[in-house]
Amino acid sequence: MRIGSSLGSRSLLFSRLVCNKAKFRPVNVIIASMAEAHISSSSAGAPAADYKPRYADIGINLADPIFRGRYHGKPRHPDDLQDVVSRAVEVGCTKLIVTGSSFKSSRDALKLAQEFPGTVYTTAGIHPCSSSIFSPSHHKHHDESQSEDEGEAEHTPACDPDPTKPIPDGEGVDHARSERIVADLAALIAQARSSSAPPGGGLVAFGEFGLDYDRLHYCSREVQLHSFSVQLALAASLDPPLPLFLHSRAAHDDFVRLLREGLGPRLEKLRGKGGVVHSFTGTVEEMRELMDPAGLGLYIGVNGCSLKTKENCDVVREIPLDRLMLETDGPWCEVRPSHEGWKYLVEWEKQEKERKGKLAAAAAAATAAATDGAAAAVADGAAAADGAATAGNEDANQEGQEKKQQKQKQQKQQQQQQQPSKKKNQKKEPEVPERYKTVKKEKWEQGAMVKGRNEPCTIERVAKIVAAIKGVSVEEVCEAAWKNTVKVFGLDEIQE
Ligand SMILES: [Zn+2]
Repeated sequence: MRIGSSLGSRSLLFSRLVCNKAKFRPVNVIIASMAEAHISSSSAGAPAADYKPRYADIGINLADPIFRGRYHGKPRHPDDLQDVVSRAVEVGCTKLIVTGSSFKSSRDALKLAQEFPGTVYTTAGIHPCSSSIFSPSHHKHHDESQSEDEGEAEHTPACDPDPTKPIPDGEGVDHARSERIVADLAALIAQARSSSAPPGGGLVAFGEFGLDYDRLHYCSREVQLHSFSVQLALAASLDPPLPLFLHSRAAHDDFVRLLREGLGPRLEKLRGKGGVVHSFTGTVEEMRELMDPAGLGLYIGVNGCSLKTKENCDVVREIPLDRLMLETDGPWCEVRPSHEGWKYLVEWEKQEKERKGKLAAAAAAATAAATDGAAAAVADGAAAADGAATAGNEDANQEGQEKKQQKQKQQKQQQQQQQPSKKKNQKKEPEVPERYKTVKKEKWEQGAMVKGRNEPCTIERVAKIVAAIKGVSVEEVCEAAWKNTVKVFGLDEIQE
């Protein structure tokens, strides 16, 4: 028995027990209340004061073992995937499109779609950084690579470039192996689509696939180009076609060329399904070429990696709302204080605090005015009743009033004495409020997020930054991204 797997299943059991014990709100209950809240918010055009954002995370690597508490092949804490999903749903992120970036993660993502029907959807494909399976130097057949003890290799590829890794020598393509891989991927997709629970297996996109020249150390350019074009041919052969979930890094010209060669200049072979280029970090010109409605007509996915630098943020400003999708790409791509996007988040939170402060002040003033009016009415009534009161009663009332005033004075003094020490012990308020406690993985605790492990509930930060950059409301950003996502991936057609 492998230590990893026995611990893994025990952790899962532990997590479920704790969940039950803590009466964790089931995901479907939270979704129902979110939906209710959304319906109650006005849809009449103007942003409603009680608007509850709804998010679809189009790129979340929930099949990564890190969400089961496993880091680099070692169990570090109990499986808390259920909590991760619950936190997402709690913030309004009720749709999670889990990225399949290899055979293993695509299969695991499909299992998650069964586990969380109506919440988790999936993609299936081979990421450029997982494409060395097409080369002869990859000694493991992809179907055998299902061991859970592969250490680092079991993690989904990060979207960050990693310049510390050596670049391997030129690798060729093993064509016989390539044919087997494509046939196996076609079979995996066909099997998922034949499923009825959830409908279509929850599979809503082909991918993640594309090109990544920032990370040739995982796979050579030649093999990446091969992987991308054979998968495009497979995507073109699907009936009905699936929309695409694409990855492009420092490879724009080749990326666009292969898309056009494989699917037509307007992606005609997809028969209107289209797709998204996720985790976008390219230039404005590149973005325009990808989005061009008379050309490829693709959508643009934004996560923390798209908000790192000033140049990134300038590009995000130019994304029309009707082409935007939101994602976290967790466990990767979190927004960090060193990123340009963070400044926008701080500013957004500052303005939100001011707005709430003004609302509270106005509400307090209204209450005070109402109370004054009521007090005046009471005083009038009391004056009329006074005529009937006896002298003895008046004395008793006066005594009671004096006692009351004295007590209030004492309370006020006590409060004033307590205040300085309270201030001293007060923790400095963070620039950006933390909705959930965050702890290091070594100090994992139920209900807390893990430092450095990005998860879908942080999508609200991405939405706030995009809203601040574009100078529009979060509601406009969320609603546009939601509608684009539901439309492209047909989420309204696939119900629980
Ligand atoms: Zn990617």
